[in-house]
Amino acid sequence: DAVIHWFKMDLRTTDNRALWEASEKAAQAGVPLICIYMVSPKDFEAHLTAPVRVDFMLRTLEVLKRDLAALHIPLYVETVEKRREVPERVLDFMQEWGASHLFANIEYEVDELRREAKMIRMCAGRGLTMEVFHDTCIVPPGALATGAGKQYAVYSPWYRSWVAHVHANPDLLSTFEQPTANLPEARDKVAALFDGEIPDVPHNKRLSEEDTKRFRAIWPAGEREAIDRLEKFCEEKVAQYTKRRNFPSDPATSNISVHLAAGTLSARMAVRTARDRNKTKKLDAGVEGIQTWISEVAWRDFYKHVLVNWPYICMNKPFKPEYSNIEWSYNAAHFDAWCTGRTGFPIVDAAMRQVRSMGWMHNRCRMIVASFLAKDLLVDWRMGEKFFMEHLIDGDFASNNGGWGFSASTGVDPQPYFRIFNPLLQSEKFDVDGDYIRKYVPELRDVKGKAVHDPYGRGAGPQARKAGYPEPIVVHKDSRERTLAAYKAGLDRD
Ligand code: FAD
Repeated sequence: DAVIHWFKMDLRTTDNRALWEASEKAAQAGVPLICIYMVSPKDFEAHLTAPVRVDFMLRTLEVLKRDLAALHIPLYVETVEKRREVPERVLDFMQEWGASHLFANIEYEVDELRREAKMIRMCAGRGLTMEVFHDTCIVPPGALATGAGKQYAVYSPWYRSWVAHVHANPDLLSTFEQPTANLPEARDKVAALFDGEIPDVPHNKRLSEEDTKRFRAIWPAGEREAIDRLEKFCEEKVAQYTKRRNFPSDPATSNISVHLAAGTLSARMAVRTARDRNKTKKLDAGVEGIQTWISEVAWRDFYKHVLVNWPYICMNKPFKPEYSNIEWSYNAAHFDAWCTGRTGFPIVDAAMRQVRSMGWMHNRCRMIVASFLAKDLLVDWRMGEKFFMEHLIDGDFASNNGGWGFSASTGVDPQPYFRIFNPLLQSEKFDVDGDYIRKYVPELRDVKGKAVHDPYGRGAGPQARKAGYPEPIVVHKDSRERTLAAYKAGLDRD
């Protein structure tokens, strides 16, 4: 007999609810705890998982395997080619090992929820038990409702309710301990499972050698790294977060999104660690930087709640159906210029090159490039959403979809459609000295002063041209007019 924990996007031993529950169950029953992870190449395809993220997950699995081995718990990793076959394979594995209980944390995307529901039924059919737990959000989806009993579609009242809920249920921020080590007799039973290797991935999800080196140096894997990063941020930066978080050349944010996305860190631990640096236990009081940072982590919960309440957003539909009829431009040259960072708008190009070079982009820049794609180029925001998933190491469906919906004005609690970022003003305001632009756009490295924000408009054209930097592909004023008209026509058509 054995108890199984099935790892998915919860690749950590500390503060992992289902893993802890599985461990308790195994200890009570006096049977071994076995951990499994199913690599599904077709899942990577279907979810557009970025190669940099696949590499991060595989590296994380190696660390996790070592961390678990220290507790004498095996992590068995297997590749299952077709995603449809994953449930069957998990259940067969249970039967091979005589396990009657399967534990997992819930994933909220539509396909995953359906899969989980199906597996619970399949288990019941075979006399097995599957238990699933809310873990990834601090407040479980469905727990909050307006006075009228409706789901929130606006962040601010949702956030007030989220804070009140956590204050009323302080256990939501407690830790789940690491699993208990397997006992010697249990170890012998599962010894064979310790030997397996972490499998390789399909060719199209592999990084080049050069990218591998660079990304691995920027993003070390594993939960120890995640906790260290979080603690360092809380010690050195969180207090200044409100003032500094919007300037992309300033490394003032936590860079933990990669860990929250892979589950190497729990959101509970993130919020608890920040809160514990405050003089108060309240999430909305005390040091301003801490309050702001916690409210940012809460956005992640918010977008996951939205996903659960309105699952159609998983099906390529805008949250606001009235925005379904906009006639987007499918100008391939424009989209390509955006993807490759050659739009002639230095702040946009710097950001697009940052994501290619780091697998990560600063939040302010995510908003700038998203607005630019949807509202300057009038390209369908879903093409940008897809590109982000294909390149981000922290790609997360709910946050990405939410971010794109916000910027394109088609999502939940969005910017009004007539609010259109002016890329030049954004650049001058948030990259004041042009350091970020110069870092990622080497063609403009020698352009002095304010001309770096708009070389062709500010007398540095010949220099930029000589260095091979493109001229702007659109005129912001004109594209703004075009977009306003297209959005309005789309809404009128509704
Ligand atoms: P910090 O500023 O230190 O914030 C701490 C944590 O709070 C983040 O790690 C993240 O988990 C959460 N958070 C902060 N801002 C947001 C937000 N606006 N929405 C949701 N959660 C937030 N975030 C992702 O994790 N994955 C994505 O795929 C993703 N796509 C985005 C796409 C667009 C168009 C936009 C505008 C934003 C997107 N974000 C996404 C949100 C945000 O940009 C990143 O979470 C943040 O830049 C990560 O850096 P950090 O960890 O240093 O953040």
